[in-house]
Amino acid sequence: MRRSRKAKIMATLGPASDDREIIASLFRAGADLFRLNFSHGEAADHRRRVEIIRSVEEEEGRPIGILLDLQGPKFRLGTFGGGGPVEVQPGEPFRLDLDERPGDATRVTFPHPELFPVLLPGSSLLVDDGRLRLTVTAHGADFAETEVAVGGELSDRKGVNLPGVFLNLSAMTDKDRRDAALGLELGVDWIALSFVQRPEDAGELRRLVGSRCRVMAKLEKPAALAALDSIVNAFDAVMVARGDLGVEMPPETIPTAQRRIVRACRGTGKPVVVATQMLESMVGSPVPTRAEASDVATAVYEGADVVMLSAETAAGQHPVESVRMMNRIIEQIEGDEYYRAGIEGERSNPEPTVADAICYSLESTARVLSTPAVAAYTASGFSAERAARERPVVPILALTPHLETARRLALVWGVHPVRVRDVADEHEMVEVACEVAVREGAAKPGDRLVIAAGVPFGTSGTTNMIRVVEIPPEPGGEEKAP
Ligand code: PGA
Ligand code: MN
Repeated sequence: MRRSRKAKIMATLGPASDDREIIASLFRAGADLFRLNFSHGEAADHRRRVEIIRSVEEEEGRPIGILLDLQGPKFRLGTFGGGGPVEVQPGEPFRLDLDERPGDATRVTFPHPELFPVLLPGSSLLVDDGRLRLTVTAHGADFAETEVAVGGELSDRKGVNLPGVFLNLSAMTDKDRRDAALGLELGVDWIALSFVQRPEDAGELRRLVGSRCRVMAKLEKPAALAALDSIVNAFDAVMVARGDLGVEMPPETIPTAQRRIVRACRGTGKPVVVATQMLESMVGSPVPTRAEASDVATAVYEGADVVMLSAETAAGQHPVESVRMMNRIIEQIEGDEYYRAGIEGERSNPEPTVADAICYSLESTARVLSTPAVAAYTASGFSAERAARERPVVPILALTPHLETARRLALVWGVHPVRVRDVADEHEMVEVACEVAVREGAAKPGDRLVIAAGVPFGTSGTTNMIRVVEIPPEPGGEEKAP
């Protein structure tokens, strides 16, 4: 099965998508990757989901990507007697401390001793997805006095965002370390780090995972935008995490932030995911709002690699229909006559490397000759990513002997990863590429195919040749006219 679109779909799994039947349906409806959200669920839930995905992969004969999303440093208030809620009034003082007594309308426990010292007078604390705002007036080693700037109801364990504060904390919590270790054991393809603030945040996760999986930065803090280019360089992919980003920054800044991030990623050739609230109303409704359809469209016009579903597939009433809808929107946009103009308008020049020169020729040769597909041999996936950076009109068949590479490439725009046997020479290289192109319905006998590969074969990072071939008639098929 080959998708007829370039942008990919990632679906988050959760209680609404917990059995094999639904996960298989999500895949068939268009999900190319699944996200395991480690902010929720137990290790056993995630383990079971990975097993199901791998069995669906086996049955469908297509590589499926799995992204483990680490919770990161998520801060929460303590509890109120009887669960609350209590009402806090604008202008009134409200204290956060380490005292374990139940909270009331004047104070509550804030069980994060590491945070008190890094607060600054005037810092904002955003509570409950930004619904309430507290302004720090004074703080010590174990307390903070605040004034309520925006009041409202508070109840147990509401989340707290600290947008203006640079948190000089380790990028991974102990829970993240345990979760990442579990992910490696389960063989996930990507691990995403939450609340990234600086390029150095990649360090610990990279040391932990080595070459066993790829690392993604979730951009959800203003500090990350200030260091955008260096963060994009330090990670293998990026997520525009609009949920928390939209809490930490005003809503009107989110569209330009998204555009900047997508552009920076396309420039460096790193895959980029646009996430959160894309079809939010489909959590409860079988159809999205017009605005949501337009939001997915914007990400596709911008050339994002992946659009993501969160609660729609994890906890909603219409998980499969949400994927189907996203699939339809992408196909509609990619079929629009103005779509290419937008993609071309933000094309970046190739970098002065052999791989980019080859991938640039791959795209231009396919365009000049109107070939129905291009093929790129890739060991690590890098060459396929560089080919995708050129955003060709036709599908990129990424041919790799490594299942891990094929799975990772599920995240990349326009790439149809196919696991192939090792090829030993140029003859086999042509034979296998032609075979795959026909079998996957990307080309037919008599068509021309452009192939990029590296000699010596089977070595990573050697992409250095391009071949144009005519696909021979199928064995036993019709004979060519004399
Ligand atoms: P989350 O991340 O769903 O893990 O919070 C995505 C976002 O913040 O948009
Ligand atoms: Mn988030």
